[in-house]
Amino acid sequence: MEPEKIHVIWLSGQACTGCTVSFLNATHPSVVDILTGFIPQAAGITLDYHQTIMLPWGEEALAAVEAAERGELAPFVLVVEGAVPDEGKAGEGYWCAIGEEEGKPATFTERLRRLAEKAAAVVAAGTCASFGGIPHGRPNPTGAKGVMDFLGRSWKSSLGVPVVNVPGCPVHGEHLAEVLAHAVLAVRGYLPLPELDGEHRPTYIFGQTAHENCPRCGLFADGKNSHAFGEPYCMGLLGCKGPISHCDVPKRGFVEGVGGCTTIGAICIGCTEPEFPDEPYGPFLKKAPAGFFVLEKIHSIGGSLDAVWSRIKEKLAGRKL
Ligand code: SF4
Ligand code: SF4
Repeated sequence: MEPEKIHVIWLSGQACTGCTVSFLNATHPSVVDILTGFIPQAAGITLDYHQTIMLPWGEEALAAVEAAERGELAPFVLVVEGAVPDEGKAGEGYWCAIGEEEGKPATFTERLRRLAEKAAAVVAAGTCASFGGIPHGRPNPTGAKGVMDFLGRSWKSSLGVPVVNVPGCPVHGEHLAEVLAHAVLAVRGYLPLPELDGEHRPTYIFGQTAHENCPRCGLFADGKNSHAFGEPYCMGLLGCKGPISHCDVPKRGFVEGVGGCTTIGAICIGCTEPEFPDEPYGPFLKKAPAGFFVLEKIHSIGGSLDAVWSRIKEKLAGRKL
């Protein structure tokens, strides 16, 4: 039997479209895998509206958004890319608009509010949609914010699902592809929803720090530091924010396991965090507060002492025998 269709409406607010580009580079699963039903349990997904990659334009394109707003396109997952602007700052419809209604721009915020009411799940793709990202950096002239702040932290979809944040600047294509596939499997009852942290990020992706996942972490523990870019040691002295940022990218790579910030010699700038790009993540080359590195060192010493104590206990137990 054909699985019930699940529609996707992808809105773009204050965005550079980098998250779309990143999503198109996902490989496990790829966008083509998702849309052609390569994963049988996740088949039947249709991308009904995406202003960058859809074929229709004008009224024909907007018809899908309007049908979803009226509840005629169900169930659908709403993906938001880009920050939500505070339209009130410059007048309704000034910063972002999606089509027109009664001869006036239909504001992004109004569309978002109406679509969220009918959506089975809302997924924020990238840091701008999750927390405001680059557009909300000080002095934030457009009043930019994330979808979770706009709808309210306690907001839940018609299926009882809170906003799911998949931050990253840009989003990691496979993080997003996985979470979307996971959301579809959850809607169909094959899987539970992914566990989320306090910032509504899936913990299986964002539960550890970039530092914990960094291939240079052993060199940090050994006290070997890079003093210039290009050296192969820990880049804490060069401004790396890995100990205070959450993601698996240094371990996982960025596309097909290749790349990944600290893996290739770039510092972590904390792009998955709510405060990004402001302090303590910006200015990007400024060192992270020393306290975090001291704490990491104490943990490392604690771990070594624990290992030594286990060996001593083994020896003592052996003697008794
Ligand atoms: S501080 Fe940065 S470069 Fe150094 S180990 Fe941690 S994440 Fe890697
Ligand atoms: S390692 Fe840092 S800069 Fe790179 S994706 Fe993760 S949080 Fe962003």
